[in-house]
Amino acid sequence: MTAPRVTSATPGERSDFGGTERTTVAIVGTGFGGLAMALELLRNGFDDFVLLEKGDDVGGVWRENTYPGAACDIPSPYYSLSYEPNPTWSSRFSPQAEIQQYMRGLVDKYRLRPKIRFGCEVSSATFDEATNTWRIDAGGTTIVANVFVPATGQLSRPKLPDLPGLDEFTGPSFHSAQWDHSVDLTGKRVAVIGTGASAVQFVPAIQPHVAHMTVFQRSAPWILPRPEVQYRKWHHTLFKLVPPVRLAERFGFWLLCEVISLGLVDAPWMRPLISQIALRKLRKEVPDPELRGKLTPDYAAGCKRGLFSDDYLPTFSKPNVSLETTSIERVEPNGVRTADGTLHEADVIIYATGFRATEFLGPITVRGAGGRDLAEVWRDGAFAYKGMSVPGFPNMFLMYGPNTNLGCGSIIYMLETQAGYIAQVIREVARRRGIAVDVREDVCTEYNRALQKRLDRSVWTLCSSWYRNASGRITNNWPGTVLAYRMTARRWQPSDYRTVLPARSTEGVTV
Ligand code: NAP
Repeated sequence: MTAPRVTSATPGERSDFGGTERTTVAIVGTGFGGLAMALELLRNGFDDFVLLEKGDDVGGVWRENTYPGAACDIPSPYYSLSYEPNPTWSSRFSPQAEIQQYMRGLVDKYRLRPKIRFGCEVSSATFDEATNTWRIDAGGTTIVANVFVPATGQLSRPKLPDLPGLDEFTGPSFHSAQWDHSVDLTGKRVAVIGTGASAVQFVPAIQPHVAHMTVFQRSAPWILPRPEVQYRKWHHTLFKLVPPVRLAERFGFWLLCEVISLGLVDAPWMRPLISQIALRKLRKEVPDPELRGKLTPDYAAGCKRGLFSDDYLPTFSKPNVSLETTSIERVEPNGVRTADGTLHEADVIIYATGFRATEFLGPITVRGAGGRDLAEVWRDGAFAYKGMSVPGFPNMFLMYGPNTNLGCGSIIYMLETQAGYIAQVIREVARRRGIAVDVREDVCTEYNRALQKRLDRSVWTLCSSWYRNASGRITNNWPGTVLAYRMTARRWQPSDYRTVLPARSTEGVTV
């Protein structure tokens, strides 16, 4: 995209009056979604945007999730921006701190910091039809922007379990995404509730330190091998000097995930293959048949997110670890009581119970044209056109929106596709001063009808997971490969959208 020249008087700067800031594009969040969008704009010569960040650093989930053992379970050569490869990852599955450092490095390299408003938590965004602009309330500041890009992610709001007595526990307790590092677990009796991707990483990491750990499992996860490699100096040199080697690593994992993704939707015959690999691993790593029985999933592989670990299953054979599969009745002052009446005493409780993933954009109040409330529009489940546009919300484009999550693959690949698409629209909005574009209702409805039809044959219909809302609708996942999504969203089609002119003069509007 050639650089559209923007006529904002003071791009990305605060005005002197009433804490109002004018900009062309307001991006909410500085996780991978927000950064991918900002970098795409900069790479195209467009710099009239701000990033609103509620925290005091960049990183999104990679800033928040600091639990012991936190690492990416998608290989880093694939879980990074295609145009910003990092030849010096310390290992194939990089630890959290290194990923956040990579993100900070992007911010520094592209001189993004002056564009980021830290400590700016967005509470509401309202579309003003008179001027075709979004008014975004963020603490004491109002941002007026032509384009609103929420990039708040799907996994940013921790969810505590809906159990009675949570407040009665007298010891420390915390969610895995809000790890309390001031609590020393050494020699403590620890209760862990939940056995998803987060628990699978921190359970083996804390086991050597605790006196005893009881892991409360509601559903056993499918665990696959994690082909970890510690990259040495020679790897780094090779990756730097011979880029095809690094690209081969990226391509290999991309291809593997693409094949697995086919198995999750269109090629069900592949699923037994995946479960066989996991069951063989389980037999090898858990010799005790009774324990193995408890750790054997009772639902189709891939229905909940498949997990990659070589140290999680062996942890349950350690003398200081118990696996509890009786359902939890309540939390009490001294521990966790299960339905069989047993009190499992604990000094610390860690909730690894996931996120409010289906509540996209919550708790931000978003009002579009005619004052329509996005929460109301999404009351039966979030939806969007290609995961980015919702009819009646002109010039709003979501990053990592509804139905763009993956059962297997790098979400960064998806984000690059979305950033490219949104940048094309921004170019048009910047070119045609004052217009807004609103996805056509019929186009969006037909897109989602076909999408849900495809999802009906996916493995995700076979169990409950964070991919589905309370009524069972799959609101989070994309039913296919990342390549298929890229083909769908590589070009913005103006005919899919209505052009909306502002109700009154565009004097002062920044595009
Ligand atoms: P999660 O996968 O949603 O797992 C939550 C766990 O808590 C599940 O085992 C769930 O059981 C259990 N649970 C929830 N409520 C419960 C209750 N009332 N009683 C007992 N158990 C309860 O959450 P997560 O582990 O934080 O992972 C969420 C997502 O974050 C992952 O799927 C992944 O996409 C992402 N993540 C990625 C990485 C990475 O390396 N890239 C690492 C961590 C997380 P049920 O299954 O029975 O509901």
